[in-house]
Amino acid sequence: MEKHALQKWTVALAGNPNVGKSTLFNNLTGMRQHTGNWPGKTVEVAQGICRWEGWELHITDLPGTYSLRGSSEDERIAGEFLDSGLADCTVVVCDGSCLERTLILALEILQRVERAVVCVNLMDEAKRQGIRLDTERLETRLGAAVVTTSAGDRAGMTRLLSAIAAACEGQQERMRPIWRDTVTEAEKIAAECTVRENAGQNWRYVLDRVLVSRRYGIPILICMLLCLVWLTVWGANLPSDMLWQFFSWGYARLSALFRFAPEWLRGLLLDGVYVTCSRVVSVMLPPMAIFFPLFTILEDVGYLPRMAFLMDHGMSRCGGCGKQALTLCMGLGCNAVGVMGCRIIDSPRERVVAILTNAMVPCNGRFPTLILLGSLFFPRVGSAFVVAACVALGVAGAMGVSGVLGKVFLRGQPSGFLMEIPPFRRPRLGKILMRSLVDRTLFIAGRAVCVAAPAGAVIWGLANTPLLQGIAAALDPLGTALGMNGVIFLGFLLALPANELLIPVILMMLTSSATLDAGIAASGALLLEAGVTWKMALCTMVFTLFHWPCTTTLQTIYRETRSWKKTAAAFLLPTAVGMVLCGMLNLLL
Ligand code: GDP
Repeated sequence: MEKHALQKWTVALAGNPNVGKSTLFNNLTGMRQHTGNWPGKTVEVAQGICRWEGWELHITDLPGTYSLRGSSEDERIAGEFLDSGLADCTVVVCDGSCLERTLILALEILQRVERAVVCVNLMDEAKRQGIRLDTERLETRLGAAVVTTSAGDRAGMTRLLSAIAAACEGQQERMRPIWRDTVTEAEKIAAECTVRENAGQNWRYVLDRVLVSRRYGIPILICMLLCLVWLTVWGANLPSDMLWQFFSWGYARLSALFRFAPEWLRGLLLDGVYVTCSRVVSVMLPPMAIFFPLFTILEDVGYLPRMAFLMDHGMSRCGGCGKQALTLCMGLGCNAVGVMGCRIIDSPRERVVAILTNAMVPCNGRFPTLILLGSLFFPRVGSAFVVAACVALGVAGAMGVSGVLGKVFLRGQPSGFLMEIPPFRRPRLGKILMRSLVDRTLFIAGRAVCVAAPAGAVIWGLANTPLLQGIAAALDPLGTALGMNGVIFLGFLLALPANELLIPVILMMLTSSATLDAGIAASGALLLEAGVTWKMALCTMVFTLFHWPCTTTLQTIYRETRSWKKTAAAFLLPTAVGMVLCGMLNLLL
């Protein structure tokens, strides 16, 4: 034990996308790296330390790839790391529920590295599908230690650590095997080492056939989207009102507390900071707390890759690339994440098009605006329908603009699209709640409040000077030409740091002396009183979809492209689309 007290080893985690590498990595290092059920997501190399029985394992989670021979960035990074000899041991992660396919890469890696452990993960899934694995035989055939795990349940972690330790210490003498044809070999080995006890997994097969079929897939996708938005809109009303009332109660208490404070200080802190933050929280928190868990369930069961598959057809028709559909789905959560996700697109030119158009799909920061305006101004059409139509319009816009950019910039062959559709998986309630409520809802709400608090103070200050009204008046001709007005247009400018600020900022400017004396319905009343019509609301919704991305997304775009020109294009492109559409709506309606 003493001898090993300072023993440090470097361990690489390699494997196909979606085999549970990130989950294993998190289990071993205790780090909370985000994991999601779509392939090709782990594009950055994550590193962490695992201390176990006097060992210090420095673990590197390599990008998931299907091969090491291709030209994509992921393959280059993974291949270079494995060849560098930095790793004392490589853990090759395979999927027990589809061993044959994941063995192809495993064989390629086993031929390249000195010390390796093969970790066959997702064994719970394999068992559920009636697949039994002959581990000893597999060890013999591969010439490396094989450990079975179910990373989702943290099962098999100690065995994995022991095997890593044994491999690092060189206890396992192994000859590097040579396979001439890794595909036919992988097929043979998987057939020899696995037994399928019940071949009847028919319902999964049938379900998949239906969900990704051209005939039923798209209608099901639309229905699912409608349900998601309807549940969000319907469910958020009551809690929103309750939060609003709670904050109003707080406002009254704080007013009493601050009654001796100077007028300006009370205004700044209460009407500026407190009112803005309260609006952000009561308008945003309930829809997010409903939308995110539902969205995360779809993500966790494995529906998103199917969604991307369905959209792929349309995408390729527009000259876009299939992986872009996946990044658009990520953009529904957060455009900055969607932009970063564009790294999975191999062709640099296609990647730029995908980055420039990602912000056209509404992120979660924009959903509250769409939901609020949809339910206030279009109650008869059905707010869920209006919001779903907005999402569809955003996706259509992104596809249309990609098509045009593709024609201008992307002459020649589009790159191929190989995507793995993972099996359906049982959603894990604890993980879904953790990821959707803590990692997403609270994180985004927290960030919004951090931006809203100073923004509220500044806007209150400005609202009490003629300056803001002056700027709004100066912007009025432009705002009116776009079917909105100067105040709403200025709201968009002021909400540049975070889209979720839009409605609170507009409300504050419309009613600079606002108090929190009424529920969410009163927001509508305030907007109506201020002369906001359904046409203005419609144009505001369209402009919400198509305008400049928020600062976080712009920063991400600059980081990803390292080009001010492209960042400026990402700012101007959706804005131009929004201006043209709103201008047309203004003329037509
Ligand atoms: P990566 O792309 O290889 O990093 O894969 P992730 O770690 O992101 O896992 C992909 C999906 O598989 C996630 O939804 C995980 O929750 C799930 N997953 C990971 N390991 C297991 C497992 O052992 N059993 C089951 N049922 N699901 C797992």
